[in-house]
Amino acid sequence: MSILRKQPNVVIIGAGMAGISAARRLVDAGFRNVLILEAADRIGGRIHTVSFGDGNYPVELGANWIHAPNAQNSTFQIAEAIGALQPYRIYNSMSSRFLREDGVEIRREIIKEAFHIFNRVQDKVYRTIINERTKHNRIITLEPLLCEYLEKELQNVKADGSYIQDMQKALKAMMNFRRCYEGDELDRITWEKPEEEYNITEGGEVHIPGGYCQILNHIMKLIPKKSLMLKKEVVEILWNSEITEIKTRDGSTFKADHVIVTSSIGYLKKHHETLFNPKLPQINIDVLTSLELGRVNKIFLEFDQPILAPTYHSVAFTWDDTTIENIQNDWYKRIFGFEQIFTKNNTLLGWIAGDAAEYMETLSNDEIGKICAELLRKFLGNRNIPNPKAVLVSRWCSNPYVLGAYFHQTKRMIPGEQVIFSEPITTPSGGPVILFAGEALSNCCTHGARDSGIQQAERLIDLYMKKNIDGTF
Ligand SMILES: Cc1cc2nc3c(=O)[nH]c(=O)nc-3n(C[C@H](O)[C@H](O)[C@H](O)COP(=O)(O)OP(=O)(O)OC[C@H]3O[C@@H](n4cnc5c(N)ncnc54)[C@H](O)[C@@H]3O)c2cc1C
Repeated sequence: MSILRKQPNVVIIGAGMAGISAARRLVDAGFRNVLILEAADRIGGRIHTVSFGDGNYPVELGANWIHAPNAQNSTFQIAEAIGALQPYRIYNSMSSRFLREDGVEIRREIIKEAFHIFNRVQDKVYRTIINERTKHNRIITLEPLLCEYLEKELQNVKADGSYIQDMQKALKAMMNFRRCYEGDELDRITWEKPEEEYNITEGGEVHIPGGYCQILNHIMKLIPKKSLMLKKEVVEILWNSEITEIKTRDGSTFKADHVIVTSSIGYLKKHHETLFNPKLPQINIDVLTSLELGRVNKIFLEFDQPILAPTYHSVAFTWDDTTIENIQNDWYKRIFGFEQIFTKNNTLLGWIAGDAAEYMETLSNDEIGKICAELLRKFLGNRNIPNPKAVLVSRWCSNPYVLGAYFHQTKRMIPGEQVIFSEPITTPSGGPVILFAGEALSNCCTHGARDSGIQQAERLIDLYMKKNIDGTF
């Protein structure tokens, strides 16, 4: 049993994982005046399950996997409890066939050795980055170090010329994979902690066959319908008195004792000057300036027939040269490869990151589909592959309410400085008036976003809850 000393008005900006998790925690604790204002016409934010192709099967334009499915992972717990993980599928990036531009597959032994080298080099890169930062206050990004160390490793490989050439190509493909995984060009990204602390995938990565939307719907189940308003973009938060006023683009006004802001780093960077009145404290603005949301997109292609042989489910493209001289001509060299989606064997999913991911958003689905089909013909050595019958492409960089994909460490950041956003911004009397939540404050993934929303809700719960006689809430 819980007793609230007062029923405060809490407005939550954004119905992504962080926003709805915060709302659900507050509702569960007995808060009755909770309102989520969401700019888009749907909930989910960067979780976006859509129906695609013949049969309208679910595909994910945003979050795909539950990283690190273990007892501490709150998203995993929900997915397991509602039976959303059956059949249970763990992703294995090692199982791709690495194909050359001439349509020939690179030998498995070469790929195995390339993976060993790449992993070893990554460890070394992380250690160097930490060393340079802590000992010499020097910030280095991933790309130059990866290139330098991979080159050195290659010089030590004892094999003939063609073996080395194939390995070189495989390593470049692995760099492309890393761009998608990290979420941007590798010369924009650095790290602040040893790699093992970043191992958010312990336990693998689990797929949700029926779609991530099931998790969202489960969280929303006990949130009253009146607590969610869609198509309400908040354009101004007037927060210099005890009661905050929130204005939306359509001219509505709402009052709140507390506002939980879950807009992405991309959105906040662009709009903070007009969104907050008065402006955010300078320290928050400084931190915001040095944070960045990465750029990643997905491409879905549906064909009449499966394109990949039944014995393998994904292919990696190993280009002779991955240099991008002119983004208009070379953008597709950043596509790591294609994998069959679990739910439909005639549908392929490709990932792309960085400048090329952003550039791709200027092209039509049709253009993208034709280029991808040509790539598949080339790398699979099969001129008979038709153009796809349906194409779906995510466009996260130009999504006006997100403006990017996922958060990464940048060279301008001071390690850990984003935690400034976990501290509430207070009114003159010291009450927490603006609280931030979202993926950047935690791990860059759905359960990180969820945990940060719950944490900020807990802060308000602590403020308003009276403990019962037995000391429990
Ligand atoms: C391509 C891609 C693949 C990914 N893959 C994975 C994966 O496999 N596994 C994983 O765990 N994570 C993955 N992620 C990351 C994951 O999607 C995010 O970490 C998480 O969904 C972020 O949730 P959030 O609530 O913090 O932010 P968001 O999802 O961005 O939600 C914020 C919400 O606020 C709304 N909003 C913003 N500003 C306003 C405003 N002014 N007024 C009203 N509403 C506003 C937005 O419309 C949005 O709905 C992926 C992301 C992308 C883009």
